Amino acid sequence: MRILRTIAEMHAQSDAWRREGKTIGFVPTMGAFHDGHISLMRQAGERCDVVVTSLFVNPTQFNEASDLAAYPRDEATDSKMAADAGVDVMFAPTAGEMYPQGFATTIAVGGLEDVLEGAVRGPQHFRGVATVVNKLFNIVAPHEAFFGQKDAQQVAVIKRMVADLAMPVDMVVCDIVRETDGLAMSSRNVRLKGDDRRRALALWRGLAAAKDVVDDGERDASVVAKAGTDAMLSHGITPEYFAVVDRGSLAPLARVAGDVLIAVAARVGPVRLIDNIVLRVS
Ligand code: AMP
Repeated sequence: MRILRTIAEMHAQSDAWRREGKTIGFVPTMGAFHDGHISLMRQAGERCDVVVTSLFVNPTQFNEASDLAAYPRDEATDSKMAADAGVDVMFAPTAGEMYPQGFATTIAVGGLEDVLEGAVRGPQHFRGVATVVNKLFNIVAPHEAFFGQKDAQQVAVIKRMVADLAMPVDMVVCDIVRETDGLAMSSRNVRLKGDDRRRALALWRGLAAAKDVVDDGERDASVVAKAGTDAMLSHGITPEYFAVVDRGSLAPLARVAGDVLIAVAARVGPVRLIDNIVLRVS
């Protein structure tokens, strides 16, 4: 596996691959790899001739300086894991390479950026995400890009951007990879110490409780959200939000019907966690 740090090198590599007729699969990440990232890389390898992952802790999408400072970074371990997962190139630019003096452009995906995570973190979070993903697509020139359902709102924002701007990239959304007890894998989980690791299960318990009442026939979204919230409270965690929304538009639902996203966020000790499930309800 090669590690490339400049846009010029990455452009040259992608141009060469495209001239050879190879399909490029791309997995954008912020590093601190776990099995969730690895599953995306492996799926990219199954579908595409070559795989690129990017490792870039994007400063513009952090709304708390402390979260950016505490974000785990271990490029040596990441590069070994990516190589083992069959990645051909890891693109790991500096912040200066991505945001040189005078950088002034922002992508805003209206309507999707100020709800759920955007309501808590501010619209600049998804503007940061959309802008950096747009730039990474231009640098890597992938045929297919792989994103985790773990970040459901990110998926909705990027899908909208790709469609609106006619970007020639196919989006592949990959299932959430969980620990054996149900906790969604996250780079931030390493910061869960002592009892916080047990309390973090509240998110999964809340989602499971919400799914249970839907499976039992409940269609009133507020009742479903209350069941999930109550399950989290009984686990000692108060959700920042427990939302029942349409999967694509992220609009709140009064009735549970169609492609339903149940999304939750909560602070557990020093860490802010998110999780979700998708239900297809007829
Ligand atoms: P991140 O490094 O956190 O920006 O994540 C990079 C990609 O991995 C994103 O598309 C995430 O949605 C995805 N990802 C993170 N955690 C998981 C997980 N537990 N299961 C599946 N995909 C994940």
